[in-house]
Amino acid sequence: MTTINYQRLLEGHYEAERFPKDFSPERIVPDFAFNVLNTMGLLYRPVVDEHFVNNGGQKPVWPDGKAFAVCLTHDVDAVSLYSLKQSLRSRLTQLLNAENAFQKVKNGVGIGIDLANKVIHRNQKDPLHCYERWLEVEKKVGARSTFFFWPGLSTVTKRHHTDRAYELYDPVVFDNQKCTVAEMIREINLSGWEIGLHPSWYSYNDVDELKRQKESLEKALCNEVVSIRQHYLHYDIRITPCVHTGAGFKYDSTLGFNDNVGFRFGTCYPWRLYDLKREEDLPVIEIPLIVQDGAMLNPAKGLRLDEDTAFRYVIQMTEEVEKVGGVLTLLWHPNWIIIPHWWDLYLRTLEYLQHKNAWFCSVKEVGDWWKHFILAFRQDKGLGE
Ligand SMILES: [Zn+2]
Repeated sequence: MTTINYQRLLEGHYEAERFPKDFSPERIVPDFAFNVLNTMGLLYRPVVDEHFVNNGGQKPVWPDGKAFAVCLTHDVDAVSLYSLKQSLRSRLTQLLNAENAFQKVKNGVGIGIDLANKVIHRNQKDPLHCYERWLEVEKKVGARSTFFFWPGLSTVTKRHHTDRAYELYDPVVFDNQKCTVAEMIREINLSGWEIGLHPSWYSYNDVDELKRQKESLEKALCNEVVSIRQHYLHYDIRITPCVHTGAGFKYDSTLGFNDNVGFRFGTCYPWRLYDLKREEDLPVIEIPLIVQDGAMLNPAKGLRLDEDTAFRYVIQMTEEVEKVGGVLTLLWHPNWIIIPHWWDLYLRTLEYLQHKNAWFCSVKEVGDWWKHFILAFRQDKGLGE
């Protein structure tokens, strides 16, 4: 049986060693089956934190004496369902970057379906034009989340067939007002929610590309962007932490799974990412992703759960996080609000977590708090900064 060195685990050595040999920038994202903790049956336990607490480590201290934190996040992959412009941009990107003939045919046929959809729904309200609903339900439990927005297709120089199709100047309806995506994100931000970056597929290893995308979102937001989550969790532990540092991010929340829930690095505590080449800590703090909607509820991949069983997984993960006083980071995609039981599970989860008396926070809030906590801890121990 392998013995895990927790320091090396957090630095990313195990993930780097187990990176698929056939990895290329185009390859599908390697998921939980490549993870060393999965092979040991430890994916559903924050083993690093358990070890820390069992050896006399002090559990993190959260605001108002709360026992654990819940970081709510949303990856904004789509802002409209019936926008013909966005559908055509998306089909074109997929056609031009198709990996095989089947994808080409599929997207060719898709253009006809999009056109028909547009005609059928021409007088209807777009079902995705309801971002205010996320704010309302979160406000009700005293929470504010992070929305990771796409920087606009025109800022993406190298495109992949999974890249998103909206532009920041596209029209939407927010809180019953017609506006642009940029105006909507400014409004969301002014209400106290965080806007982070959800960059393109090929940004994971390209500092200049990522900087451009960050600047595009910042310009629309009229504010600094400090948090990031890679689209599709497309991330290379050997490179991406340095790319995020180079582009000036403070917080990342990519490190979780697309097809499972659990603790990818054996922890639900934030930690500083590591440069494996130079063998030194980086300034970027990771807020690991523990549970995402698609991993549980997508009927075609991942765990393929029904709502009740998915809720049991949420409870199990919450209890594990609560035991060590960590951070439960959740991801719900706003575009799946159209599937009633995905939305219902979110409402149920929020209510449950409010009942558990968790501290709700955005990525920036938990990252800032963590820095403050670590600093106070180090000063208390006479360790300096
Ligand atoms: Zn995405």
